[in-house]
Amino acid sequence: MKKATIVSIGNELLSGRTVDTNAAYLAAQLLSIGIPVTGVYTVGDDIDLIVHKIRLAGDDGDIIISTGGLGPTDDDVTRQAVAKFLGVELVLRNELMNQISGYFTAHNLQMPAKNIIQAYIPAGAEAIENQCGTAPGIMARSNGTLYIAMPGVPTEMKEMFIHITPQLREFAGGQAVISKTLKCFGAGESVIAGMLGDMMQRGRNPLINCTVENGVVTLYVIASHKDSETAEQMAQTDVQFLKNKLGDIIYGHDRQTLAEVIGEKLTHLGKTVATAESCTGGLIAKLITDISGSSKYFLQGWVTYSNKAKSAQLGVPAELIEKYGAVSEQVASAMAKGARDMAGADYAIGITGIAGPTGGTEEKPTGLVYISIACDKFIKTERFVFRSDRAAVRIRAAQTALNMLRKAL
Ligand code: ATP
Repeated sequence: MKKATIVSIGNELLSGRTVDTNAAYLAAQLLSIGIPVTGVYTVGDDIDLIVHKIRLAGDDGDIIISTGGLGPTDDDVTRQAVAKFLGVELVLRNELMNQISGYFTAHNLQMPAKNIIQAYIPAGAEAIENQCGTAPGIMARSNGTLYIAMPGVPTEMKEMFIHITPQLREFAGGQAVISKTLKCFGAGESVIAGMLGDMMQRGRNPLINCTVENGVVTLYVIASHKDSETAEQMAQTDVQFLKNKLGDIIYGHDRQTLAEVIGEKLTHLGKTVATAESCTGGLIAKLITDISGSSKYFLQGWVTYSNKAKSAQLGVPAELIEKYGAVSEQVASAMAKGARDMAGADYAIGITGIAGPTGGTEEKPTGLVYISIACDKFIKTERFVFRSDRAAVRIRAAQTALNMLRKAL
């Protein structure tokens, strides 16, 4: 199996001004076509240091992909570094010169003299077309290693990567790679890894990999085989096994969000929902209405931050708040019930909690959140403690509320 290493180039990456999202994107994309990434190197705009990192990268990868440093300014030195690494001169390519000047003409601009450098690439290398900008990429082969340099600007890099994906697949052995994605919520990555045991072992085919964001664990099943039907079958078998093993922890597939899945279910059932939020400040309503067509099932949302608003808007009895506190199981339930009644919805979510970082006590710590789902058959309220900063507590709480609604449907 061919492996890749990534070299992220740019002083801004070392100063912390820019977060290296290119490496994250490339690692995920490469893995999805069956090319695991064995390392990521970060280096500033210095020819000798870049050459050094390319050499290191070549020690653990068959494919070296760099991003950054292909711009026209004096600090963009990647093409010089690649030429030095390959031991060749930079040569002016007239067709690139025409493309670059054409880009400026098409945008009604005068081409600055500095951009001429972008028409130079190392002798013997191929230029990769840049459909979003002026800097062509570079593709070169040397001693069985494939070297690719792409621009740092994420939109340009992504467009170029999509363009070269067929060549990467071919270089990786012409194997058919089938990738399936399952979305999970309600169990952490280590719990899921524990449930899957040996299936997540490195080097296994299909390879099962996971990423985590805002409580959503995404599982990738990547099967490779010389025959695409066999690869498809291998992936399907694992997907079925994962579905049996993880049950309703799996909520969807591909890029589906919890809000999307809920929207599909509510539409299918012909049911409606309303929300009554305190600590999430409208985030649940926002997530639900992010989905196009949500007006079919989302009736109304309240952000009742004060006790007075909870009573006046949702009919939560003031004595209940007095007796149990605004952050309590009883108040969350009353908020859900009130929202359901007031909106005339089939389902309602009530949520109250302490997002922090202030406001926690020993009895009611920061991150404590009560979430309630009300429908015609029941009002179900659960207690959670999310140990994180304010933003993370809020998004985790909102996602958890959507997940409870999903299960209630
Ligand atoms: P340019 O023509 O803009 O100079 P370039 O190929 O030289 O293109 P850089 O100058 O290295 O690219 O980066 C341009 C911008 O792209 C940076 O200012 C930064 O915002 C973004 N960028 C660069 N590298 C990365 C990275 N690894 N991850 C995310 N963003 C990046």
